[in-house]
Amino acid sequence: MTLPHCDSPPTPQETAALRERYRVERDRRVRPEGPGQYRATTAEFGYFATDPYIGEAAEREPLHDVVDVAIVGGGFGGILAGARLRRQGVAKVRVVEKGGDFGGTWYWNRYPGIHCDIESHIYLPMLDETGYVPEWKYSPGEEIRRHAVRIAEQSGLYEDALFSTAVTSLTWDETAHQWVVATDRGDTFRATYVITATGTLSEPKLPGIPGIEDYKGHTFHTSRWDYGYTGGSPEGGLTGLAGKRVGVVGTGATGVQVIPMLAEDAMRLYVFQRTPSAVDVRGQRRMTPREVDADRPGWAAARRENFLRIVSGEEAEEDLVTDRWTESAGLLEKLLPSFRRDGEPDFEAAYEAADHATMNRIRARVTAEVTDPATAAALQPWYRYACKRPTFSDKYLPAFNRDNVVLVDTAGTHGIERMTERGVVVGGVEYEVDCLVFATGFSVGVSGVTSGKLPVAGRDGVQLLQVLAERGPRTLHGFTKNGFPNLIQLGSMQNASSVNFSHILDEQAVHAAALVVAAEEKDALLEPAPEAEDAWIDVCARDAPDHAWFHAECTPGYYNREGRGRPNGPTAYPHGAVAFHDLLRRWREENIDEVLQAKTRAEGR
Ligand code: NDP
Repeated sequence: MTLPHCDSPPTPQETAALRERYRVERDRRVRPEGPGQYRATTAEFGYFATDPYIGEAAEREPLHDVVDVAIVGGGFGGILAGARLRRQGVAKVRVVEKGGDFGGTWYWNRYPGIHCDIESHIYLPMLDETGYVPEWKYSPGEEIRRHAVRIAEQSGLYEDALFSTAVTSLTWDETAHQWVVATDRGDTFRATYVITATGTLSEPKLPGIPGIEDYKGHTFHTSRWDYGYTGGSPEGGLTGLAGKRVGVVGTGATGVQVIPMLAEDAMRLYVFQRTPSAVDVRGQRRMTPREVDADRPGWAAARRENFLRIVSGEEAEEDLVTDRWTESAGLLEKLLPSFRRDGEPDFEAAYEAADHATMNRIRARVTAEVTDPATAAALQPWYRYACKRPTFSDKYLPAFNRDNVVLVDTAGTHGIERMTERGVVVGGVEYEVDCLVFATGFSVGVSGVTSGKLPVAGRDGVQLLQVLAERGPRTLHGFTKNGFPNLIQLGSMQNASSVNFSHILDEQAVHAAALVVAAEEKDALLEPAPEAEDAWIDVCARDAPDHAWFHAECTPGYYNREGRGRPNGPTAYPHGAVAFHDLLRRWREENIDEVLQAKTRAEGR
């Protein structure tokens, strides 16, 4: 293990002062309601009645057929699972997707300025397989969406896909050894296997600001951008905002991308900020195929593995991506629950010193770029690096030097006070706006299954949500679950994650396809014994790092359940994603039979 790097460690006095400042800033922001301060987005906010990209879905006859695999969700998780299954020769794979096309996050999120802040050459999956080489270091959203479509097309996933369709229930039929899949379009088809890939950022949320319903101006969430109102496209040119007073609530990773674009076209832009983001250098630039060695077979897989090693704290001979993610990799330890302790007594002190130095650099950048001292002071983040998701932009801070942009800082209080028919009230002052954009994020980790919107009934009609509530998460490797045969879950529960989530999803897709192939070859059911789940929980719990104290001291946000701390219990594999992927590979070669259950044995239970 290497200690986090620090060129200019703060003095003990500076450390003490920073700790105190962070504590004061945090205490001002913690709200007693925690995550309960948010509310769901509903049709009354205008944009959920129809899909903004296709309008009303075309009529079609309900389906009552049988497929090999049903995949719930057509984002990267579902697409990759489908692609990996098709490559293994599985014929009938049906992706069911709420949106009008493939893409998931990248289908719904098309706000101006949308890009991925993870390097395109490692974020876009299956570049080796599709032959596509991105042109820019950081891809615009539309390029990512088109790549999702490319993979789906090349994998033949369109043939059986159902779009503009939500799965409404999954019910295991013990006699037929099939899942019955019901949808909101009247389908009831059967599938031997079901893969859930419903995403972790799929449920947009709004702040529960008093009076939010009273606002009479135009409003929408960034994940349902209304180009009919603003004009323009993700590249900008929002001509509909000329002469308009626009407000934007939220300065997280989305706000940081969208605000410079709104600033260009709105007559006046009010940025309502509760907590400033840490905004680091982005360094967007064109990259040649030669630079990434794109002629070499397997170049993309090697590059993303290199990034994963670095951000997981593993040894790597070189840093191929060299951006602020890899530079700050040592500080991601608290962000991802991967095992880094090795008995080094000075680790926490070195870690804190590196953290303070990084945040000092980020704060200094604000003062260097923002000319008005009061605005610069309000844009400085006062918390530790891994408390909130870092952001990256070279356009965000300079946007506040424009005459038409006003930062309305809620001064470390609980946020916007209230809304009126005309606008937003902060500190007793009403800011009238014609349009209010909510860049207020998502109910992170809430999926159809965990919210109860998608009931899953396993063997003997047992409900998955009820089992989760009564016994907590119990899985083998995060994928399979006793009592729910042939159900494979993708996501971030009881496995290992990374900031490059599309890589994680691809490894999960490979694993899911291998599970299906193994069960087919042995004519077996996929279902771990309770003992296998116990053993996996033990593995996750045994070396689980204690990061609870760190998150308890953090400013509120979705990383610490709005100040409530991390949930208890073993929620992740503690040795990091590189080790997890190795473990899965070895398990597939040596132990996959562990999850295969004779159909007759299952019937006799
Ligand atoms: P976030 O949840 O990160 O941010 C929500 C914002 O809304 C915060 O600034 C929050 O303030 C603010 N807010 C919430 N309630 C209020 C209130 N009552 N008054 C004032 N402000 C309020 O959502 P994002 O959409 O920005 O990002 C979500 C995730 O999506 C990211 O963390 C990232 O994982 C992903 N993403 C990835 C991108 C990429 O390039 N890879 C780009 C965009 C998003 P506060 O901080 O005080 O809570």
